[in-house]
Amino acid sequence: MPMFKLLEHGKSWLTRLQPCQLCLTDHQAIHSVCQDCWQQLPWVHQTIQRQEMQFQVACDYAYPMDRLIQLFKYEQKLHLQNLLAGALLSLELPKVTAVVPMPISTERLAERGYNQSLVLAKHVAKKLNVPIWQPVSRLKQHSQKGLSRLERIEDIQSQFQINTFSRIRYRRVLIIDDVVTTGSSIRALSQKLEELGCQKIYAACLAGVQI
Ligand SMILES: [Zn+2]
Repeated sequence: MPMFKLLEHGKSWLTRLQPCQLCLTDHQAIHSVCQDCWQQLPWVHQTIQRQEMQFQVACDYAYPMDRLIQLFKYEQKLHLQNLLAGALLSLELPKVTAVVPMPISTERLAERGYNQSLVLAKHVAKKLNVPIWQPVSRLKQHSQKGLSRLERIEDIQSQFQINTFSRIRYRRVLIIDDVVTTGSSIRALSQKLEELGCQKIYAACLAGVQI
């Protein structure tokens, strides 16, 4: 066996000896967790319809997935990315030419230090062997309290802006987002991607909130 093969082999063997990131008891078997913890995630592997769009959803927004997403998003628990990206990769993802992470505003980025959807999208892009494409940016996200349904939709649509420096165009893309609730932000992003000439837009999310 060549040396690099031996090293690779040794690395995965060592990883498996590490404890599961969720129960901290059993050894890691899949995406940094043990077999039992992986199986006990609230899987749905569904395609749901919102806002005249279809979204592929890996899990229900239920325990422990809801808590894991919160830890990853708001409490800097970036080590959970392997597990969360693994959940996205367990979906039957379509053949696309680029992966588009849901953008966050500069204010959110400064606050958080990273875009959680970009972190996950990088794993997906690597697996699909396609580039990450970020042709749309997001303006300041503010509270939507007190707005009517229509005002909310208009407000979300006005948050997304095509980057003028974007020259490359892709036709078949996959949007990655963490949680889908009403689907209006994905819809608004899709409209901008359509303006850029995208013909087929798919969306994959970690978890879907029942509405
Ligand atoms: Zn476990």
